[in-house]
Formats: sequence, structure tokens, C-alpha cells
Amino acid sequence: MLLPRLPDPVPPAQHEIDASYIGRLARLHGLDNNTLWRCVTERETSGGMRRVVVPERLAAITGRTVHSLTGALPELRTPQPDWAMFRHQPQPGCHHCNAKHPGGEVTRILPHHRYVCARHRLWLCPSDADGHITPLDALPEVVQAQRRHLRILQRHGWAITYDAVLSAILICGQLWSLPENENGEVRHDWIRRANILIPPGTAETTFSVARLCAAVYPEAIVLAPLFSSPYWRHQAQGNAWDRRLFNAEIARRLRHPRYGQHENDPISHWANMTAKRPPLAPIRVHDQKHHLRKSAQHAATQRAQQRRARAFNPSHRAGDALTTHRHLATVFRRAWHPFMSHTLLPNGDSYYKTS
Ligand SMILES: [Zn+2]
Repeated sequence: MLLPRLPDPVPPAQHEIDASYIGRLARLHGLDNNTLWRCVTERETSGGMRRVVVPERLAAITGRTVHSLTGALPELRTPQPDWAMFRHQPQPGCHHCNAKHPGGEVTRILPHHRYVCARHRLWLCPSDADGHITPLDALPEVVQAQRRHLRILQRHGWAITYDAVLSAILICGQLWSLPENENGEVRHDWIRRANILIPPGTAETTFSVARLCAAVYPEAIVLAPLFSSPYWRHQAQGNAWDRRLFNAEIARRLRHPRYGQHENDPISHWANMTAKRPPLAPIRVHDQKHHLRKSAQHAATQRAQQRRARAFNPSHRAGDALTTHRHLATVFRRAWHPFMSHTLLPNGDSYYKTS
């Protein structure tokens, strides 16, 4: 089939999903989306009903090379990328970056390590139901943490980095919920950032778990290199002396001089139970067949969000909402429930209910 070239074949955005790009091309040219979709797709070879994009057809109508298209559009690649490296749910990404891509909404499938648009200082953590845009102009340390995050990725690869960063965020959330004298100086930073992201008295409209995640992200990225390092994992599992060195390093990084005096904190649990285990894979993986179905926000999720907003107090167990959120489900489900519920949180009946 000879396909005519479109007069305004704008480029795809980085990590854009195929349907988003084709939808933008259709809107820009006043074409019917389904008609254009059928032009550039064919039935999948396995005999199913689904249609898949033919890279050469998309190249023909845009005048762009297959190589350049597959560079930006992960779904177009052959062989398919390792989808475990990406978040399972497509998201818009940074709206400032999207503004230079005409034709309407841009939807991207972002890799796990993309938490911040450093250029525009925006938080890109998997968005909460509220769809808030979270500027980080007053929190340069969060932007800086993204750069450190990328250095961990370069050193250890995506799987170890994914596990280490999520474990570290979870641990920060747990530390934030400990009594004031047990969670170190970083608590003050978490409260300060929370008060910027969720100004006092505005929680009903500004509260989101993604923002709590931003509040602890710098310290999570300070801890994550230890959780990803073979040397420190070994120290964590070693004899009493090795463990003392590990605890001293944690104390230094968390500015927590008394760290290591108790055995019942979340990091000790990580050292005892998790350090010897291989990294966890994500529970949910991107599925091209279903990603266009927009996830409707269930009434129960909305109610849970409102409940968390009403209960939110940065000075009192503020990490609870973070640790039970679905973003951390992969590491949350790891077997530390008995330890936490019986040792640390005897009264936290609802602590482990996931959202
Ligand atoms: Zn941006």
C-alpha cells in the first residue's frame, strides 16, 4: 500500500506510546483517528484481533526513518523492550516538555527511574488520582536527587536500582511514622518539604501520596546506594563488627547519631531479612493491549484519598499513607509484615491495608 506523506509530520515525544503519537498526527491533520490508525497498523501475526503498528507505514506517512521512530516510541521496537523496566501505566509526564509537541495530549510510558523533570523542576512520580502537577522550585534537593538516582542506575542497572529506591522510599516512610525521638534529624526536612508541597490548612485540595514521596525522595536516594551496593549488602549481613560499620554509615547518611541502638527499626529489618535476597521485579508490567483504557477512579479510592487528606499531619505518622500506597506495593509485600506489626506498630491496626 502506498501511503501519502502527511504535510506536517511532527516528531514523536520521547517514550511516547504509539496510540498517543498517531492520535496527535490525526488531530493535527483533521483526520479521523481510527482511519489513520488502520492505515498504519495490521492484524497481529498471531491471529488475534488486535492491530499492531507497522513501523514502515508510520515511517512512510511521516517521512521519518524507522530508526528515529523506534528510538522515541518504545512500543515500536523489535524485539520489544523489557517492559519490566517501565512503569506499567502510561502517564503524561512533564507538561512543559509536552508543550513543544503539538496535536493534544501526550502520553508516555516512563522508565521506573524517571521521578523528576530536571529541566522544568516538576515531580513525575506515578501520578495520584488527583492528577496534581507538583512544582519543585522551592525544593532543589529533590531535583538534585534525580541526578544521583541516575548515577545509581548507571552503576547497578535498572533492576537493582528499582528495588533499592523503592525499598528506601518505604523505609523513609516507616521512619517518618516512628515516634519523634526515633526518626532522626531528617524528620525536620520531611516536615519542611511536606509543608511546602501540602501547605498547612490546604490538605483537602493539595494532599497526595506522590507529594509525600517527593518529601522523602532526597533521603531515599541517599540510602539507596547502600541497598544496591554488594559491599554494603554484605556488611549488613556480616558479623557484629560489620553490622556496626553498616549502622554507622546509615547514621551518617540519615544524620541520626543514635541510629543502631535499637534492633527493631525498619533498616535493621532490611539488613536481617532483605539484604540477602535478589532484587524484586515489578508486580505489574506494561501491557499494550490494555493501556488505552483510562483507569477510572473508584469511589473507594476517592474516599481513601479524602480520608488520608483529612488525617494528614506532617508531625504525626505522616509516612503511613506513603508506605501503604500502591506505588510501593512491590517492596511492601515483601515479608516484613509480621516484624512491623508485632514489634513496631502494636496499635497500627490499619497500617497494612493497601490502597
Ligand atoms: Zn519538562
